[in-house]
Amino acid sequence: MNCFLALTLLLLPFAAAPPAAAQGQLSVLDDAVTRLKRRGVIPVLQEHCQPGIYGSYNHVTRKLVLCGQAMRDGLLTETVAHESVHVAQDCVAGAIGDGHSLPIYWRLLERGAPQAENFRATIKQSLVVRDKVAHALKSTKGMSNSRRTRELEAYGLEHNLYAALKIVEAACPLR
Ligand SMILES: [Zn+2]
Repeated sequence: MNCFLALTLLLLPFAAAPPAAAQGQLSVLDDAVTRLKRRGVIPVLQEHCQPGIYGSYNHVTRKLVLCGQAMRDGLLTETVAHESVHVAQDCVAGAIGDGHSLPIYWRLLERGAPQAENFRATIKQSLVVRDKVAHALKSTKGMSNSRRTRELEAYGLEHNLYAALKIVEAACPLR
């Protein structure tokens, strides 16, 4: 047996299991996907998407696509958080998958919810603090007001899967 092979065999049991940090991340993601599925979301893993696309959510088919590139770039958690916000926007516009979607801020305003301005300020501050304002505005240029506001909300919450899921739970209560 050559040295390299011996080393490979020695390392194999360790290589098979992801490191502790990655394992923790996987269980968080697993939990997120379970919560989304309970609400009617259909998660789809797609190896190849359009260049630059990490994921998508369709408010008619309820399919939440996670692209292989998100995994390769280490952005799976952010992608799940971003698309979860779009799920919440689907729920606040009516029944999930009914083809309608609304910015969460608009819905809060309509309901006269006291947390509306707080929510808006949180999104804005999150974009400023993470230096994402220019990117967010550029990538949403030309979209309708509703679509643009929805994207900005998703950008504003994509760094915080926990917060994104809390919003999903509030927007899409289990029956
Ligand atoms: Zn989006």
